[in-house]
Amino acid sequence: MDKLTATKNLRLAQEIAKQVDIDERIIGAFASINRELFVPNGFKNSAYKLDALPIGAKQWISSPVTVAKMTQYLFLRNADSVLEIGCGSGYQAAILSKLVRRVCTIERIEPLLREATERFRTLGLHNIFAKAGDGQEGWSRYAPYDRILFSAAPSHIPQALIDQLVEGGIIIAPLQQGNAQIITRMVKEGNRLISTPIEACEFVPVVDGVER
Ligand code: SAH
Repeated sequence: MDKLTATKNLRLAQEIAKQVDIDERIIGAFASINRELFVPNGFKNSAYKLDALPIGAKQWISSPVTVAKMTQYLFLRNADSVLEIGCGSGYQAAILSKLVRRVCTIERIEPLLREATERFRTLGLHNIFAKAGDGQEGWSRYAPYDRILFSAAPSHIPQALIDQLVEGGIIIAPLQQGNAQIITRMVKEGNRLISTPIEACEFVPVVDGVER
């Protein structure tokens, strides 16, 4: 990153920190990932605003404030691996890659996944493993995970994902409940999830199957 771009991203991190109570490590992660690379051409000037942006295929790159919140809620301090459902632009995965040893991320829309994978390569983020698929099935190859993050809203948590989470592991998901979406923290105890609602939110829904 050149100096000007580094300054812009540091400033973005500081702006986020004014709105969300994130720790120093997370601020550092935001400062070290160039958000410009994750927004579509024509939106570069908006990359440093705290808004969600369209990324094509009727999908969105989440607001950096939302990414920050989800990251904070994951309690990553003693976590080694994270599985993300809904890679999208790859921005959330890139932030996570600075905070844990391994990030696995799944996207159901293949063209989006290809673009995200290209970004990870450009940035040298070699600890991100990304694949096209239906994230509701998880990714058994790298399981178990310490954390699972839904970047799209599910109506329930599939058993396959509970099976791929370590005992005591945490799932953060914007759970669809009727017309409302609530960011919810779920901790695995035995074969049960102990849920705590956190706050209302707006994510795109989890959709079944893969789109080529
Ligand atoms: N984390 C992304 C946010 C993308 S929006 C970012 O930082 O930009 C949510 C994404 O979830 C969309 O790209 C959507 O296609 C994807 N998605 C929805 N249902 C899915 C499923 N079942 N499996 C994998 N990805 C899914």
